[in-house]
This record gives sequence, C-alpha cells and structure tokens, in this order.
Amino acid sequence: MQKSLKQLHGELKNGTLTVRALVEQSRDVIKEKDGDIHALLDMYSDVCIETQIQKAEEMFANNTATVLTGIPIVLKDNILVKGEGATGGSKILENYVAVYDATVVKRLKALGSILLGRANMDEFAMGGSTENSAYGVTKNPHDTTRVAGGSSGGSAAVVAYGGVPISLGSDTGGSIRQPAAFCGVVGLKPTYGKVSRFGLMAMGSSLDQIGPFGNSVEDVEEVYNAIAGNDPMDSTSLPDARKEPDVIRKVIGVPWKFIKREGIDAKVLSNFTASIEKMEKEGYTIKDITIEHLEKSLSVYYIVMFAEVSSNLARYDGIRYGLSHPGETSIKSYFESRTAGFGDEVRRRILIGTYVLSSGYYDAYYNKANSVREMLRKEFIHIFNEVDVIAMPNTPTPAFKIGEKISDPLAMYLEDIFTVPVNIVGVPAIAIPSGKTEAGLPLSIQFIACHEGEQTLFTYGKAFEKLY
Ligand code: GLN
Repeated sequence: MQKSLKQLHGELKNGTLTVRALVEQSRDVIKEKDGDIHALLDMYSDVCIETQIQKAEEMFANNTATVLTGIPIVLKDNILVKGEGATGGSKILENYVAVYDATVVKRLKALGSILLGRANMDEFAMGGSTENSAYGVTKNPHDTTRVAGGSSGGSAAVVAYGGVPISLGSDTGGSIRQPAAFCGVVGLKPTYGKVSRFGLMAMGSSLDQIGPFGNSVEDVEEVYNAIAGNDPMDSTSLPDARKEPDVIRKVIGVPWKFIKREGIDAKVLSNFTASIEKMEKEGYTIKDITIEHLEKSLSVYYIVMFAEVSSNLARYDGIRYGLSHPGETSIKSYFESRTAGFGDEVRRRILIGTYVLSSGYYDAYYNKANSVREMLRKEFIHIFNEVDVIAMPNTPTPAFKIGEKISDPLAMYLEDIFTVPVNIVGVPAIAIPSGKTEAGLPLSIQFIACHEGEQTLFTYGKAFEKLY
C-alpha cells in the first residue's frame, strides 16, 4: 500500500522522514524498476533537483510547507522545465532544452515539490500505447508483455510501480485516463481551461489539458488544486471565480447502448456492470441515458485533432529549433528535417490534417466535424440537468499486448471510443481503479461531470474507491 500525500506530509513535518530521504527512496525504486519498465526518459539535472530539495527543506523549517512540499513528481516529457531537456517523445526535439517553465511547473516549484524526471510518451502525445515514442516502449508494471497505455504511459507506469506518488500527464483524447486505467492508478482530465497549457507542447489546442496521476482520488485532488487556476499566458484559461458548491443528487447516467457495443471485452463489461450495481446498492439512482451524437465522437475527434496537429506541428521546421538537416534549398531542409525527425504516426496525422483543412474539403470535413461537436456539447449540457455524472468504462479492453495494434492504426484509434467525447465537449473526467481481471490486469471506471464539475468527480471518486 503506497503512502498518501497526507501521510508523507505528516512524516516530513514531524521529522520521521526528511525530504532528502524521500527523494532518495524514489531514486532507489526508479533505479530498481525502471530498467525493465522504461517509464522515464531521463532524470532532471542534479542542480534542478538539489535546488528544489533545499527550497523544500527551508519551507519545512520556516513553516510554509504545504502538502506538496518535498514530494517527488515526474512530468510527461511534453511539459517544459527551464534549462532541462524536453523531447515530446520525438527525435526532432532530441537535443532541445526548454527556455522557460510551464505554468504548472512554476506552480509546483513555488510549492516546493521536487521535479524528479521526464516520463516517456507517444511522440507528441499521438497514440495510446507509448509504442510511438522515438525512445522505446513503456511496459505495463502489471504485465511487462503488455503496454502501459498512452500517450502518458510513462507518467502512469512510474506511479503504478511506486517510483513517485504523483505525476503529470496530458489528455487530448484520453491520454491520462487510458494509461491510468491500464496501470491501475487514478487519473484526472480537468475541464478544458482549468489548467494552463502554457509550456505544454501543443497537440490539439482545443482539446489538450494537463492533469495528475496518483494512487488515490484525494492525492489527485491535491495536485489538481495546486495546478489549476487562471493564467494570463493561456488565452483559453478560465477565470478563477469558483462556482457554488456542487449539488449531489446521487444520480448516475449510463449510456448503456453506447457501452454494450461490438468490440467491448467481456471482462470490461462485466466489471463495469458490477461497479454500477455496487453504486446502486449504495443508494445511487442509475439512469439509462441516450446521447445521440456520442457515436459520432470518434469521427469528430479524428478530424478536429488531425487538423490541429497539422497546424501545430508546422513549427518543427528544422530551422528554428530541434533537429536540423540542412539541404540545398530551404524547402529541402524542411523536408529532410521533418522526414528524419518525425515518426510514422506523426507524419500520418500531419498529412490527413492538411487534407481535411485543404480548400474543397474544409467544409466537408472540418466544418462538419465542428458542427457535430457543438451538437454533442449541447446534448451534454442537457444531460447534466438530470444526472451528476455519466459513468462509462475508460477503455473497451484491458491493457493489450505490445505490438498487437501498432500496425493497425484504426484498431488503435477505436481504443479511444470512451474517452474522446469528454475532450470534444471540454468537460472533466476521472479514471478510478475498479479491480483486476483474473490474470491480474487492472480494470477501471470513468466518471464524467459537467463543465467545472471537478468537485463532483472527487466526491463520487472517493465514494467509489471505498467499494474496491
Ligand atoms: N489515443 C489518442 C490519440 O491517439 C489520445 C491521445 C491523447 O490524448 N494525447 O490521439
């Protein structure tokens, strides 16, 4: 049983544990386990870690320490820490060194957290298995023949094997919830705009959100409270003004027809059904809901996201930063740098994204997808007048075998069926462990709340955790 942030804080405060000893423990576990799992790409520099240790020690000495002070944390490698490398899982940024701190990093540094290392990920967050990383796959700590999930596979795996109590990932279409589900940890995708994207490498700018992984809902809530908040450096950041406390009606909406679909694994379905029955026994009302446009969400996601990817990745031109293969002309340099620097999946998405944005197809694909997106958003608003949360599995299957889906992009995309609607609509969702298969593979449930309904997710999450 991993210690909670509150327990660690108590020990750090009463002196039974020191910040330095806690960091050493983390380093030891990582040294022991990461050779096999490969959750981490690198540790941050000794100077970076040492500066934070000293700051944390000072905060404990002068009584300004908070629950995150002195806590080691790992960041997905698309989050910038000034003076440290950040590759986004891509060869094109192999030698890139960040020139500023992401807003989430600034906040964590101010609280005295110890930024320990950078986690493996699918290249530029495109994928669901970390097999698209230019630096090798992350294995699932529960079964090393299987994927840890993705794209934040490293961030999930390092928490799952006990290397750090908390980590950060990013979620554009499921990249926090899916690896959390595969690795048996808690993962939160916040409301779009609650956590600043400043200093996060952009994938799909209208979908991306940074969020935490942890061993419990309470730990994830602590990290969320630390990193959320308005930021003038992100134009899509929401104002801080807190809403009234959420009213809990104890009503859960379940889109049964959408869930009981072809391709859903029998173990996932029976575990999800059992979870819902447990909640019903606890006095929650279960409402069978229909959201008409849910079926369209994969299509919408895989148009809007491709379009945004193609425009966001244009900045990696081999001239301004990152890998550079100078050719005879600038257009040749551009081609050669991108061919050498980008992996297959990234190139596939740039090509399709450019296609859906090209004149003649813009209306047929991009605009159409955006209007369906709007209809789905309206349906969600309507549903949340009747239910506190929508419950679904996070994934149609437990963690799959390494190599099983990598040569079939469509099969890989279908894995995202239950997570992408949340990003399209911009609402928050949480993945919480719900037991294991007989073979020991983690299973999990997803709760989705209304816009800025994080508090509802924490309330539901804590109630659900007690049942497993
Ligand atoms: N698996 C999804 C994709 O490949 C989600 C990625 C993400 O959330 N970054 O796009």
